[in-house]
Amino acid sequence: MNQWQVGNVKITRVIEMEIAGGTKFILPQATRDKVREINWLAPHFADKEGNLIMSIHALVVETPTRKMIVDTCIGNDKQRSIPNWTNLKLPFLEDLNKAGYQTDEIDTVMCTHLHVDHVGWNTMLVDGKWIPTFPNARYLMGRKEYEYWDKAESDKVDSGSAADDLNLGVMGDSVRPVFDAGLVDLVGMDHRVCDEVFLEPTTGHTPGHVSIHIQSEGEEALITGDCIHHPCQIEHLDWASSADFDQAASTTTRVELMEKYVNKDILIIGTHFATPTAGHLKTKDDGGEGYWLDTGL
Ligand SMILES: [Zn+2]
Repeated sequence: MNQWQVGNVKITRVIEMEIAGGTKFILPQATRDKVREINWLAPHFADKEGNLIMSIHALVVETPTRKMIVDTCIGNDKQRSIPNWTNLKLPFLEDLNKAGYQTDEIDTVMCTHLHVDHVGWNTMLVDGKWIPTFPNARYLMGRKEYEYWDKAESDKVDSGSAADDLNLGVMGDSVRPVFDAGLVDLVGMDHRVCDEVFLEPTTGHTPGHVSIHIQSEGEEALITGDCIHHPCQIEHLDWASSADFDQAASTTTRVELMEKYVNKDILIIGTHFATPTAGHLKTKDDGGEGYWLDTGL
């Protein structure tokens, strides 16, 4: 478990799974040879052969007034097209409890976007029905993001996009049930959740993608979501993901994030970054091209 304190806000990582290798489909430019050239990635974000290491986890953001969970992973019992993601029986809720949180005390659920691996634990299967996992929470979803997936589903048009195919069934088992329970608030892309937490638009990966900005007692953090899938994209900002809705826009978003946050005292917490998961964006000490993530290790 990783945990970070940002002013009065405590952020806790609850891991669903960590994956080494087999991730090249998501970042086609990140070949083993190219990854090995990025000398700061191993051993945490890549192995010495050049295979990327990634993680699927949720982040609990506890402020003085809120207990919020950001991105709810893949979930159990869901039928998915990726073999390693289908019909999972993982102890995620037990691990959430071990981290100190009961499902009924979570008061806010926030999905950075509505992809399959970010909404799964919105619901769980009980007596053959999908019910909200967090019955006392408001589920915040970006209005623009929701409208895109709602339309994609109702059009039933095969867009030919691999990412959209991966998302089949997700609205039905992980989004609609929380709507039907009356728990969803559709919000703008710069919505302020509470004094310490606000959304920041980081589109491209999906049309309504947002990151989560935390500010407390002069300290700052940013939970990226998938605008940066893997730290290798910090060195190569133009390495877009095959799951991106608009690869040019996701690249622009990464360029803008670097302009805003490089060499600044803001902790960058990745939604798929393997342990240690967080660090600071820095220019290269040797004056070399590109940026890197300084995890302090
Ligand atoms: Zn995604």
